[in-house]
Amino acid sequence: MRKITLSNGKTVEVECLSCALTSGLIEPDGGVIFETEHFHAHQDVAYPIEGLVILASKRHIKCLDELTDEERLDYINALTKIRKAQREILCIDYVYYFYNEDTTHHFHTWLVPRYQWMNEFGRSVESVRPVLLNARNHRNTNENHQKVMSAIEALKNGLI
Ligand SMILES: [Zn+2]
Repeated sequence: MRKITLSNGKTVEVECLSCALTSGLIEPDGGVIFETEHFHAHQDVAYPIEGLVILASKRHIKCLDELTDEERLDYINALTKIRKAQREILCIDYVYYFYNEDTTHHFHTWLVPRYQWMNEFGRSVESVRPVLLNARNHRNTNENHQKVMSAIEALKNGLI
């Protein structure tokens, strides 16, 4: 068992945080944005970026080539649906996608919307970490939290 401190400060003891999240044992802040048979989408509200979505596999795997044919199809369809909702509902022009296989969690893809304020951190891959850190350390205001929560609700409604 691992002791994990959640973004809301609560501590839980679970075998695997991703299993606990994707099975519904732990409810992420803001709730489930979208769910398919094999994937689960939520936001990590510790990073207050409107429309940021994490798409995680329900199965306890880490690598792209571990996906079955059915899961792979489900993955690309879910990813596309979320991306389309980000564009149509939140007017997000560009998204940065990130995933790493040497994760302590499951196979999961971050969809990080690109906003104007992020330009000061450069472009492309080298800007992703500084952008996330800036969001977590300097943009965690009540106002931003509200915006993030409304974006989650809007995406949920658009993805029903
Ligand atoms: Zn797991």
